[in-house]
Amino acid sequence: MIETIRNKAKEWLEKNDGGCVIGYERASDGMTARPVFIYKPYMVGSLIFDETCVHNLSKYLLNRRGLKTAIVVKPCDSRGINLLINEHQLDRESIYVIGVVCPGMKDAHFGRIEDRPLSKCRVCLHHTPAVYDVLVGEPQPETASRDYSDVARIEGISIHERNAFWKEQFERCIRCYGCRQVCAGCYCQECFVDELDPLWVGIRSGPEDNWIWNIGRAFHLSARCIGCGECERVCPVGIPLMLANRKLEKESADLFDFEPGMDAGTAPPFATFLKEETLEKVE
Ligand code: SF4
Ligand code: SF4
Ligand code: SF4
Repeated sequence: MIETIRNKAKEWLEKNDGGCVIGYERASDGMTARPVFIYKPYMVGSLIFDETCVHNLSKYLLNRRGLKTAIVVKPCDSRGINLLINEHQLDRESIYVIGVVCPGMKDAHFGRIEDRPLSKCRVCLHHTPAVYDVLVGEPQPETASRDYSDVARIEGISIHERNAFWKEQFERCIRCYGCRQVCAGCYCQECFVDELDPLWVGIRSGPEDNWIWNIGRAFHLSARCIGCGECERVCPVGIPLMLANRKLEKESADLFDFEPGMDAGTAPPFATFLKEETLEKVE
């Protein structure tokens, strides 16, 4: 697999002078992966792909708008490319997508790789990228049944208990904004949390402001989150952000039969409303 990725990257760089390949290389700990930017064909030997390539690289494409760029993507990450094309942030013609059939990723830290796949990989539906110019690996069928048992558990407790659960989680937020910075769907030039006039969210980290920040961000990603899990991975205080994202994902699948990022041509439901539409009141 890795030789195919290196060969495709080399061929592309030889034909696209000044282009950049965004992929993974071995990190300095000798065990995990880190993003790498390759500009010359002779450098492709540092590319790797294994179960530690957890990062969603699609956000880096925003720094190379209009520039020739090749990118190595897993299926979940590939949906970020479709999302950004659909939202007019990227131009498909300038991107060469090296899609990799994904075996699932594992958590690696403190000098060891966990045996279990990441939680997002345990419920992953799509094992073949949604968009690619070249596919590395054999296309795999989708997982037939959706597993929302994590969401069902929180739906099963009372609204007061749910409120207390999320209050406790969000109180721990230090407002580092790592979740925003890593997210392919968060690209506003000025995030609502940074605006001073009007001041939507207070600058200090406190229970009420943290609540507005975390709930506000989750809703901004509603029917747009592509489930890459990066926000939760980078959160330094371990807030289970994917639980909120997956609840909203489940709602958009149930209500609109919609999965974000599966193609570049279908706009998210909240971008396609008609003036004549009325909302049903949910009790
Ligand atoms: S969520 Fe799916 S596509 Fe993404 S890393 Fe896990 S197994 Fe691969
Ligand atoms: S909200 Fe989290 S899981 Fe969803 S696209 Fe952004 S980083 Fe990925
Ligand atoms: S990454 Fe975690 S701590 Fe940082 S702003 Fe996001 S939720 Fe808060």
